[in-house]
Amino acid sequence: MPKGFLLVISGPSGSGKGTVCKKLLERNKDLVFSVSATTRKPRKGEIDGVNYFFVDDEKFNEMISNNEFLEYANVHGNWYGTPIKFVTDEIEKGEIVILEIDVQGAIQIKEKYKEAVFIFLIPPSMNELKNRIVKRGTETKEDIELRLKNALNELKFVDKYDYIVINDEVDKAVNKIEAIIEAEKLRVARLKDIINSII
Ligand code: 5GP
Repeated sequence: MPKGFLLVISGPSGSGKGTVCKKLLERNKDLVFSVSATTRKPRKGEIDGVNYFFVDDEKFNEMISNNEFLEYANVHGNWYGTPIKFVTDEIEKGEIVILEIDVQGAIQIKEKYKEAVFIFLIPPSMNELKNRIVKRGTETKEDIELRLKNALNELKFVDKYDYIVINDEVDKAVNKIEAIIEAEKLRVARLKDIINSII
């Protein structure tokens, strides 16, 4: 069985990452999602252990000390981190693991997992991005300004990624990510064991 791999999806707040990832997972039951830990307070409707593991600063620091994170970063004033054990176990099982993380985290992953696949999701325009964050109605005015400022900054890191997907329509964006996954599964580097087994 080919080894699994990490699929990192980043993009500015309002790029629709959350919606796209949700749809991607609904349509592809074989993909697994890595649930991050965060010190951010839960939004309405978010469930502990499903959307995030919501922890306080003390617990987050303890997890850092215990080397429980594959990567972690401060994003928009809160801490976010990817629990290492889940990810490494799933990859060993041959699963494709989706990491919805920011650019700082993606850069850390790139140093550790050269074979990971990096997708940058962008909105059709900055105007649309602002509309989406405002419409979501979950952030304060200051937080919206911070997220917009950070969005421009994050866009500068696009060349660290392998693919750009424009999220103008959710289904179309998901189609493109599925196409990327299918192609990535066929990389020679991932299929070496299969070649050996047929010789
Ligand atoms: P939100 O608060 O809107 O759920 O997420 C804010 C930002 O944090 C998003 O860009 C999201 O991708 C990022 N993020 C979520 N989980 C992680 C994580 O485990 N690590 C890193 N580095 N970023 C994360």
